[in-house]
Amino acid sequence: MTIPRKLPEGPVNLVGLTRPALLEALIAAGTPEKQAKMRLNQVWQWLYHWGVRDFARMTNLSKDYRALLADNFIIELPEIVSKQVSSDGTRKYLVRIAGGHEVEVVYIPETDRGTLCISSQVGCTLTCSFCHTGTQKLVRNLTPGEIVGQIMLARDDLGEWPVPGAPKDETRLLSNVVLMGMGEPLYNFDNVRDAMKIAMDPEGISLSRRRITLSTSGVVPEIAKCAEEIGCLLAVSFHATTDEVRDKLVPINKRWNIETLLNTLRDYPRLSNSERITFEYVMLKEVNDTDADARRLVKLISGIPAKINLIPFNEWPGAPYQRSEPDRIRAFADVVYKAGYASPIRTPRGEDIMAACGQLKSATERARKSRKEIAQEAGL
Ligand code: SAH
Ligand code: SF4
Repeated sequence: MTIPRKLPEGPVNLVGLTRPALLEALIAAGTPEKQAKMRLNQVWQWLYHWGVRDFARMTNLSKDYRALLADNFIIELPEIVSKQVSSDGTRKYLVRIAGGHEVEVVYIPETDRGTLCISSQVGCTLTCSFCHTGTQKLVRNLTPGEIVGQIMLARDDLGEWPVPGAPKDETRLLSNVVLMGMGEPLYNFDNVRDAMKIAMDPEGISLSRRRITLSTSGVVPEIAKCAEEIGCLLAVSFHATTDEVRDKLVPINKRWNIETLLNTLRDYPRLSNSERITFEYVMLKEVNDTDADARRLVKLISGIPAKINLIPFNEWPGAPYQRSEPDRIRAFADVVYKAGYASPIRTPRGEDIMAACGQLKSATERARKSRKEIAQEAGL
């Protein structure tokens, strides 16, 4: 039996509550226990299947029940502050979350699908030396509502909620989600998991777990949890083939080195029931891009079902690296390909609006604040 908890002061935002949390909230607001399950399903569908934001439009609920909802709850998404559209169709949204903080969200259209790159933190605790976000200190973790809210606001902008009575449209503009925006998702594990559970729920946004890719710099203790509790695809920011170089590029390597990371990754496909892991490898001129690196890479990952995504380095103001020459990237890709791995070279998208990988950073840099200050500002 659910033990009703007292609701916190002020209206509660329904967006971001998991099914059990939403059930509890509905009961705490006065929904009779016997009806609670049914009400949960109805409200869930309005929120996540139809994308409705106004209780008055939840027409299968009685007037009284709609009033009860409106008295106790709100339906709130992060706010789009600005939207830029690249010459290649990529859209970058600057999104404001509670407390006035900002994150960036990028939509990348392709011919047969569309990928939304979402953020999990404002800034990042890690300091990868080639990453723009890494120059911004962690301001705070996003809440589940702010994470799933990014998917919902992109669906708003793309006009992708179903229309009642219209024939079901199976083509999806937003078909894939990648957690590759700002922040390290495995350092905000619980909130990312709750948000992805909501996004994967078949009665709502209904993204398959195979269409969600979480990218991590290598937070080893959380990787198995990601397989077990989310089950999405995994990408790893690998970027180097010796600990010496990886320590410099991805400093978390000093904590969990290449060998430790690879040992953990070997279990991922079995634990998550997924086919293969994506190894991301940013191509930095004269740093990690030789044929010897390519050969070491395939040797290191041998035995792991993998795809290697080569990312030409995207420059940002003050960046200490340069992009490898196209010929060098192709030669590297060739070695990897001949060893039996898919080795696509990622075409930079949205470069003209600074929306490409590793270029995201909120325009306003903020001083590090105490956890308490941040929580207070954000009303959390
Ligand atoms: N924190 C997570 C997810 C965000 S970064 C992680 O590190 O995996 C998403 C991807 O962009 C990572 O593979 C990251 O290494 C890569 N990236 C960061 N800065 C980049 C840059 N300047 N050029 C190209 N790729 C970059
Ligand atoms: Fe953080 Fe990922 Fe950038 Fe590293 S690459 S600083 S983990 S966002």
